[in-house]
Amino acid sequence: MKPSAFVYRRPAGIEEALELLRQHPDDARVIAGGQSLVPAMNLRMATPGMLVDLAGVKELSALELDGAGRLVAGAMVAHNRFLRDERVKSGWPAIGLAVRHVAHEQIRNRGTIGGSLCHADPAAEWAAVCLLLDAEMSLAGPQGARSVAADDFVRGVYETALKPGEILSRIRFPAPLGRWRWGFHEIARRRGDFALAGALVGLNVDENDVVQAGRLVVFAVEDRARRLDAALSTLIGRGIADIDTELIGLSAAASVDPRSDMHASADQRCHLVHSCVTHALAGAGVRPAGS
Ligand code: FAD
Repeated sequence: MKPSAFVYRRPAGIEEALELLRQHPDDARVIAGGQSLVPAMNLRMATPGMLVDLAGVKELSALELDGAGRLVAGAMVAHNRFLRDERVKSGWPAIGLAVRHVAHEQIRNRGTIGGSLCHADPAAEWAAVCLLLDAEMSLAGPQGARSVAADDFVRGVYETALKPGEILSRIRFPAPLGRWRWGFHEIARRRGDFALAGALVGLNVDENDVVQAGRLVVFAVEDRARRLDAALSTLIGRGIADIDTELIGLSAAASVDPRSDMHASADQRCHLVHSCVTHALAGAGVRPAGS
Protein backbone atom coordinates (compact mmCIF):
# COMPACT_ATOMS: atom_id res chain seq x y z
CA MET A 1 0.00 0.00 0.00
CA LYS A 2 1.06 3.57 -0.59
CA PRO A 3 0.07 6.66 1.38
CA SER A 4 -2.26 9.27 -0.04
CA ALA A 5 -0.58 12.40 -1.44
CA PHE A 6 0.87 14.83 1.07
CA VAL A 7 2.99 17.98 1.19
CA TYR A 8 6.31 17.63 3.01
CA ARG A 9 7.79 20.40 5.17
CA ARG A 10 11.01 20.33 7.17
CA PRO A 11 11.10 23.35 9.51
CA ALA A 12 14.44 24.38 11.05
CA GLY A 13 13.00 25.55 14.37
CA ILE A 14 10.16 24.79 16.74
CA GLU A 15 8.42 28.15 16.10
CA GLU A 16 8.36 27.42 12.37
CA ALA A 17 6.93 23.96 13.06
CA LEU A 18 4.22 25.45 15.30
CA GLU A 19 3.39 28.03 12.64
CA LEU A 20 2.89 25.29 10.01
CA LEU A 21 0.54 23.47 12.38
CA ARG A 22 -1.30 26.74 13.03
CA GLN A 23 -1.70 27.45 9.31
CA HIS A 24 -2.93 23.92 8.54
CA PRO A 25 -4.98 22.93 11.59
CA ASP A 26 -7.01 20.25 9.83
CA ASP A 27 -4.49 18.30 7.83
CA ALA A 28 -0.92 18.91 9.08
CA ARG A 29 0.68 16.21 11.17
CA VAL A 30 4.05 16.07 12.86
CA ILE A 31 6.38 13.23 11.85
CA ALA A 32 9.30 12.08 14.04
CA GLY A 33 10.94 8.71 13.24
CA GLY A 34 7.95 7.67 11.13
CA GLN A 35 8.03 4.13 12.54
CA SER A 36 4.36 4.22 13.59
CA LEU A 37 3.00 7.01 11.42
CA VAL A 38 4.31 5.79 8.05
CA PRO A 39 2.82 2.27 8.41
CA ALA A 40 -0.48 3.92 9.41
CA MET A 41 -0.27 6.15 6.31
CA ASN A 42 0.56 3.20 4.07
CA LEU A 43 -2.55 1.47 5.36
CA ARG A 44 -4.49 4.73 4.87
CA MET A 45 -5.40 4.70 8.54
CA ALA A 46 -3.81 8.16 8.64
CA THR A 47 -4.12 10.52 5.65
CA PRO A 48 -2.42 13.80 6.60
CA GLY A 49 -2.32 16.40 3.82
CA MET A 50 0.95 17.79 5.21
CA LEU A 51 3.81 16.19 7.10
CA VAL A 52 5.81 18.51 9.35
CA ASP A 53 9.12 16.69 9.81
CA LEU A 54 10.81 17.53 13.12
CA ALA A 55 14.15 16.04 12.03
CA GLY A 56 15.53 19.50 11.21
CA VAL A 57 14.66 21.01 14.60
CA LYS A 58 18.06 20.71 16.30
CA GLU A 59 16.88 21.65 19.80
CA LEU A 60 14.65 18.57 19.84
CA SER A 61 17.62 16.23 19.33
CA ALA A 62 19.63 17.16 22.42
CA LEU A 63 20.23 14.69 25.24
CA GLU A 64 21.79 16.51 28.17
CA LEU A 65 21.96 17.00 31.93
CA ASP A 66 20.64 20.26 33.35
CA GLY A 67 21.98 22.21 36.34
CA ALA A 68 19.80 20.19 38.74
CA GLY A 69 21.28 16.90 37.50
CA ARG A 70 18.12 15.97 35.59
CA LEU A 71 18.30 14.10 32.30
CA VAL A 72 16.67 16.27 29.64
CA ALA A 73 15.81 14.49 26.42
CA GLY A 74 14.59 16.27 23.29
CA ALA A 75 11.54 14.57 21.82
CA MET A 76 13.54 13.58 18.71
CA VAL A 77 16.17 11.54 20.53
CA ALA A 78 16.07 8.03 19.04
CA HIS A 79 15.57 4.99 21.28
CA ASN A 80 19.07 3.65 20.57
CA ARG A 81 20.81 6.86 21.63
CA PHE A 82 19.62 6.25 25.19
CA LEU A 83 20.98 2.72 25.08
CA ARG A 84 24.45 3.96 24.08
CA ASP A 85 24.71 6.95 26.39
CA GLU A 86 27.03 6.36 29.38
CA ARG A 87 25.25 9.01 31.52
CA VAL A 88 21.94 7.23 30.99
CA LYS A 89 23.48 3.83 31.71
CA SER A 90 24.90 4.94 35.05
CA GLY A 91 22.23 7.40 36.26
CA TRP A 92 18.98 6.00 34.84
CA PRO A 93 19.55 2.25 34.31
CA ALA A 94 15.80 1.55 34.24
CA ILE A 95 15.70 3.25 30.82
CA GLY A 96 18.11 0.73 29.30
CA LEU A 97 16.38 -2.23 30.93
CA ALA A 98 13.11 -1.34 29.22
CA VAL A 99 14.04 0.43 25.99
CA ARG A 100 16.19 -2.37 24.62
CA HIS A 101 12.90 -4.26 24.31
CA VAL A 102 11.40 -1.66 21.97
CA ALA A 103 10.96 -3.31 18.58
CA HIS A 104 14.13 -4.12 16.61
CA GLU A 105 17.52 -2.49 16.08
CA GLN A 106 16.49 -0.68 12.87
CA ILE A 107 13.31 0.69 14.42
CA ARG A 108 15.22 1.76 17.55
CA ASN A 109 17.62 3.70 15.30
CA ARG A 110 14.80 5.74 13.76
CA GLY A 111 11.98 5.76 16.33
CA THR A 112 12.05 8.47 18.98
CA ILE A 113 11.06 8.88 22.60
CA GLY A 114 8.66 11.68 21.63
CA GLY A 115 7.07 9.67 18.83
CA SER A 116 6.52 6.74 21.14
CA LEU A 117 4.93 8.88 23.86
CA CYS A 118 2.72 10.79 21.41
CA HIS A 119 1.63 7.61 19.64
CA ALA A 120 0.51 6.31 23.07
CA ASP A 121 0.34 2.61 22.39
CA PRO A 122 -0.60 0.95 25.72
CA ALA A 123 2.23 -1.55 25.18
CA ALA A 124 4.95 1.08 24.67
CA GLU A 125 7.87 0.74 27.06
CA TRP A 126 8.61 4.49 27.11
CA ALA A 127 5.31 5.45 28.73
CA ALA A 128 6.00 2.89 31.47
CA VAL A 129 9.55 4.18 32.03
CA CYS A 130 8.37 7.80 32.23
CA LEU A 131 5.72 6.81 34.77
CA LEU A 132 8.17 4.83 36.87
CA LEU A 133 10.74 7.65 36.93
CA ASP A 134 8.23 10.50 37.47
CA ALA A 135 9.24 12.19 34.23
CA GLU A 136 7.81 15.53 33.20
CA MET A 137 6.82 16.45 29.64
CA SER A 138 7.34 19.92 28.14
CA LEU A 139 4.85 20.86 25.47
CA ALA A 140 5.19 23.76 23.05
CA GLY A 141 2.04 25.20 21.53
CA PRO A 142 0.32 28.23 20.08
CA GLN A 143 -0.47 29.45 23.60
CA GLY A 144 3.13 28.99 24.78
CA ALA A 145 4.85 26.25 26.75
CA ARG A 146 3.42 24.06 29.50
CA SER A 147 4.48 21.04 31.53
CA VAL A 148 2.57 17.83 32.12
CA ALA A 149 3.44 15.03 34.55
CA ALA A 150 3.97 11.61 32.95
CA ASP A 151 0.87 10.29 34.71
CA ASP A 152 -1.27 12.94 32.99
CA PHE A 153 0.32 12.76 29.54
CA VAL A 154 -0.92 9.44 28.19
CA ARG A 155 -4.71 9.40 28.63
CA GLY A 156 -5.69 6.16 26.92
CA VAL A 157 -5.19 4.08 23.79
CA TYR A 158 -3.56 6.45 21.25
CA GLU A 159 -4.73 9.38 23.37
CA THR A 160 -2.57 12.03 25.01
CA ALA A 161 -2.84 15.39 26.73
CA LEU A 162 -1.56 17.15 23.57
CA LYS A 163 -3.95 19.84 22.39
CA PRO A 164 -4.36 20.65 18.68
CA GLY A 165 -1.28 22.44 17.37
CA GLU A 166 0.96 21.34 20.26
CA ILE A 167 4.31 19.55 20.00
CA LEU A 168 6.03 17.49 22.69
CA SER A 169 9.42 19.16 22.98
CA ARG A 170 11.30 17.70 25.97
CA ILE A 171 11.10 14.97 28.58
CA ARG A 172 12.80 15.55 31.94
CA PHE A 173 13.85 12.71 34.21
CA PRO A 174 14.55 13.66 37.85
CA ALA A 175 18.13 13.30 39.09
CA PRO A 176 18.80 9.89 40.63
CA LEU A 177 18.71 10.04 44.43
CA GLY A 178 19.62 7.24 46.85
CA ARG A 179 20.25 3.57 46.17
CA TRP A 180 17.81 1.96 43.77
CA ARG A 181 17.51 -1.53 42.40
CA TRP A 182 15.57 -1.90 39.15
CA GLY A 183 13.91 -4.83 37.46
CA PHE A 184 12.04 -5.27 34.19
CA HIS A 185 10.17 -8.10 32.58
CA GLU A 186 7.84 -8.31 29.62
CA ILE A 187 6.20 -11.11 27.72
CA ALA A 188 5.79 -10.88 23.95
CA ARG A 189 5.06 -13.57 21.40
CA ARG A 190 8.33 -12.90 19.57
CA ARG A 191 11.34 -10.77 20.46
CA GLY A 192 10.68 -7.25 19.19
CA ASP A 193 6.90 -7.57 19.16
CA PHE A 194 4.81 -5.31 21.33
CA ALA A 195 4.45 -6.85 24.79
CA LEU A 196 1.32 -8.70 25.88
CA ALA A 197 2.13 -7.55 29.41
CA GLY A 198 5.10 -6.03 31.18
CA ALA A 199 6.29 -4.78 34.57
CA LEU A 200 8.96 -2.37 35.77
CA VAL A 201 9.97 -2.22 39.40
CA GLY A 202 12.18 0.12 41.42
CA LEU A 203 13.22 -0.59 45.01
CA ASN A 204 14.86 2.10 47.07
CA VAL A 205 17.10 0.30 49.59
CA ASP A 206 19.37 1.40 52.44
CA GLU A 207 22.95 0.20 52.95
CA ASN A 208 21.63 -3.07 54.45
CA ASP A 209 19.36 -3.69 51.46
CA VAL A 210 16.26 -2.94 53.52
CA VAL A 211 13.51 -1.54 51.28
CA GLN A 212 12.64 2.10 51.99
CA ALA A 213 10.26 2.70 49.11
CA GLY A 214 9.03 0.89 46.03
CA ARG A 215 7.60 1.72 42.65
CA LEU A 216 5.83 -0.64 40.30
CA VAL A 217 4.44 0.01 36.83
CA VAL A 218 2.56 -2.47 34.67
CA PHE A 219 2.00 -1.82 30.98
CA ALA A 220 0.35 -3.43 27.95
CA VAL A 221 -2.37 -4.58 30.33
CA GLU A 222 -4.89 -1.76 30.60
CA ASP A 223 -5.54 1.20 28.27
CA ARG A 224 -2.35 2.83 29.51
CA ALA A 225 0.57 2.03 31.78
CA ARG A 226 -0.31 2.27 35.49
CA ARG A 227 1.61 2.68 38.76
CA LEU A 228 0.77 -0.06 41.25
CA ASP A 229 3.02 0.99 44.14
CA ALA A 230 0.44 -0.18 46.71
CA ALA A 231 1.17 -3.78 45.70
CA LEU A 232 4.68 -3.26 47.11
CA SER A 233 3.59 -1.86 50.48
CA THR A 234 4.36 -5.10 52.34
CA LEU A 235 8.00 -4.79 51.26
CA ILE A 236 8.73 -1.57 53.09
CA GLY A 237 11.09 -2.14 56.01
CA ARG A 238 12.01 -5.67 54.89
CA GLY A 239 15.32 -6.92 53.56
CA ILE A 240 15.23 -7.78 49.87
CA ALA A 241 16.40 -11.31 50.62
CA ASP A 242 13.24 -11.92 52.62
CA ILE A 243 10.41 -10.94 50.31
CA ASP A 244 7.55 -13.11 49.13
CA THR A 245 7.50 -12.30 45.41
CA GLU A 246 4.59 -14.68 44.88
CA LEU A 247 2.35 -12.65 47.18
CA ILE A 248 3.30 -9.40 45.48
CA GLY A 249 2.68 -10.90 42.04
CA LEU A 250 -0.78 -12.03 43.16
CA SER A 251 -1.53 -8.64 44.70
CA ALA A 252 -0.53 -6.87 41.45
CA ALA A 253 -2.62 -9.27 39.35
CA ALA A 254 -5.62 -8.59 41.60
CA SER A 255 -5.17 -4.82 41.20
CA VAL A 256 -5.41 -4.62 37.41
CA ASP A 257 -8.40 -4.42 35.14
CA PRO A 258 -6.91 -5.90 31.96
CA ARG A 259 -8.32 -5.47 28.49
CA SER A 260 -9.04 -8.34 26.12
CA ASP A 261 -7.96 -8.06 22.52
CA MET A 262 -6.93 -10.31 19.62
CA HIS A 263 -3.54 -10.89 21.30
CA ALA A 264 -4.63 -12.00 24.79
CA SER A 265 -7.73 -12.24 26.96
CA ALA A 266 -8.14 -10.34 30.21
CA ASP A 267 -7.66 -13.61 32.16
CA GLN A 268 -4.44 -14.37 30.34
CA ARG A 269 -3.17 -10.87 31.03
CA CYS A 270 -3.86 -11.33 34.77
CA HIS A 271 -1.61 -14.38 34.74
CA LEU A 272 1.00 -12.52 32.72
CA VAL A 273 1.00 -9.62 35.22
CA HIS A 274 1.72 -12.07 38.03
CA SER A 275 4.58 -13.58 36.08
CA CYS A 276 6.01 -10.22 34.92
CA VAL A 277 5.95 -8.74 38.43
CA THR A 278 7.65 -11.71 40.08
CA HIS A 279 10.32 -11.78 37.35
CA ALA A 280 10.84 -8.01 37.54
CA LEU A 281 11.33 -8.31 41.32
CA ALA A 282 13.87 -11.06 40.74
CA GLY A 283 15.61 -8.76 38.27
CA ALA A 284 15.81 -6.13 41.00
CA GLY A 285 17.70 -8.65 43.12
CA VAL A 286 14.84 -9.93 45.25
CA ARG A 287 15.23 -13.55 46.29
CA PRO A 288 11.86 -15.05 47.17
CA ALA A 289 11.54 -15.88 50.89
CA GLY A 290 12.86 -19.34 51.70
CA SER A 291 14.90 -19.70 48.49
P1 FAD B 1 6.19 8.68 14.37
O1 FAD B 1 5.78 7.39 13.79
O2 FAD B 1 6.91 9.64 13.49
O3 FAD B 1 4.97 9.42 15.03
C1 FAD B 1 4.05 8.71 15.86
C2 FAD B 1 2.91 9.67 16.26
O4 FAD B 1 3.37 10.65 17.18
C3 FAD B 1 2.32 10.46 15.09
O5 FAD B 1 0.95 10.63 15.34
C4 FAD B 1 3.03 11.81 15.15
O6 FAD B 1 2.25 12.84 14.60
C5 FAD B 1 3.19 11.98 16.66
N1 FAD B 1 4.40 12.71 17.07
C6 FAD B 1 5.68 12.30 16.92
N2 FAD B 1 6.52 13.14 17.53
C7 FAD B 1 5.76 14.11 18.08
C8 FAD B 1 6.05 15.28 18.87
N3 FAD B 1 7.31 15.60 19.23
N4 FAD B 1 5.03 16.07 19.26
C9 FAD B 1 3.75 15.76 18.92
N5 FAD B 1 3.41 14.66 18.19
C10 FAD B 1 4.41 13.85 17.78
N6 FAD B 1 7.21 0.55 20.19
C11 FAD B 1 7.34 0.13 21.45
O7 FAD B 1 7.27 0.94 22.36
N7 FAD B 1 7.55 -1.19 21.75
C12 FAD B 1 7.64 -2.14 20.78
O8 FAD B 1 7.84 -3.32 21.10
C13 FAD B 1 7.49 -1.73 19.43
N8 FAD B 1 7.52 -2.62 18.42
C14 FAD B 1 7.39 -2.18 17.15
C15 FAD B 1 7.46 -3.12 16.11
C16 FAD B 1 7.32 -2.70 14.81
C17 FAD B 1 7.40 -3.73 13.71
C18 FAD B 1 7.15 -1.32 14.49
C19 FAD B 1 7.02 -0.84 13.06
C20 FAD B 1 7.08 -0.37 15.51
C21 FAD B 1 7.20 -0.80 16.84
N9 FAD B 1 7.14 0.10 17.88
C22 FAD B 1 7.27 -0.34 19.16
C23 FAD B 1 6.91 1.54 17.63
C24 FAD B 1 8.22 2.31 17.63
O9 FAD B 1 8.73 2.36 18.94
C25 FAD B 1 8.04 3.74 17.14
O10 FAD B 1 9.32 4.27 17.04
C26 FAD B 1 7.27 4.70 18.01
O11 FAD B 1 6.03 4.24 18.41
C27 FAD B 1 6.94 5.98 17.25
O12 FAD B 1 8.07 6.75 17.23
P2 FAD B 1 8.43 7.56 15.93
O13 FAD B 1 9.51 8.50 16.33
O14 FAD B 1 8.70 6.64 14.83
O15 FAD B 1 7.09 8.43 15.70
